[in-house]
Amino acid sequence: MNKLKIPLLALSISVVTGCGGGDSDGGGNGGNYGNNPASESHTRAVLKAIVAGHDNFTVYTEHDFPRESSNHWMNAGLTERNDEYKCQGFCSLDQNPVETEGVIWRHDVSEDNLVPVYYAVIGDDAKEEIDPRVTEGLKGIEAAIDRKVFEDKGFIRFSDADVTNFSTIDYSDAIGRGKGGLIISVGTAHQVSKNGEIMCGSVTSAPYIAGSPNMIVDTNGVLQSDKGWVWLNLGNDNCGFDTNIVKHELAHYFMQHDGHFDGFGENGDTFSESTEAVLHTIYNNAIGAPVESMSYTWDAK
Ligand SMILES: [Zn+2]
Repeated sequence: MNKLKIPLLALSISVVTGCGGGDSDGGGNGGNYGNNPASESHTRAVLKAIVAGHDNFTVYTEHDFPRESSNHWMNAGLTERNDEYKCQGFCSLDQNPVETEGVIWRHDVSEDNLVPVYYAVIGDDAKEEIDPRVTEGLKGIEAAIDRKVFEDKGFIRFSDADVTNFSTIDYSDAIGRGKGGLIISVGTAHQVSKNGEIMCGSVTSAPYIAGSPNMIVDTNGVLQSDKGWVWLNLGNDNCGFDTNIVKHELAHYFMQHDGHFDGFGENGDTFSESTEAVLHTIYNNAIGAPVESMSYTWDAK
């Protein structure tokens, strides 16, 4: 009855951009689970769609990482701002072309290469606290992938001025802890209204904006989780979120998929078992495995 309708995002909105519906009280969609059960045929169809989507990606090869600061105002002070892995769009790690043909891009997520997670604290008076919906969302992704995925790197503080200009955000609070990772930020979602629905979750390059995140990828299609900063924005003053929206946005990040499918932002489900099956299959096959020869791993879980 109170299912949220999650609009299908136009593909033009770009890779991994925000979506995930939310209503004004942030409750609602909850555990609406089971309408879209996992199946091998559905999972394989989604994997094919993900790979096909990679063909639209442009990978820039001009930067040598870590980057030197340049005279351009946007790229001045990269070291001081702890942003030496800054790229715009997708960037090749070593300036070589990146494999896209039939191979799903993914994070490594091995024991010694987990995804670093930082919790944003914006404003001098802001408290350091982790929202329980976020904690549950992270657990949900680890349950789907079936191993430890995240490395908790603690809080990252920004002054209000630090985040005023999305091109020159200051990440220096994390100097000594890392050069990139996933920043989880509550209250900074750019609100998009589409077909009467308000969206308040997104994966972007900065808080308060729409658009795609920036990511560095190696020649095998491995996304460099710890190089460069990605923002996961959840909710804002007008628009709430729930644990399923946290999982939904994280799933965009882990699948590198801009689209939705049955059980993932379509047919009333924000995040269902069909999404878990896709995540499990991607992350329990070898890196670089051609999508046609990947094993469907969810049944055996
Ligand atoms: Zn979405």
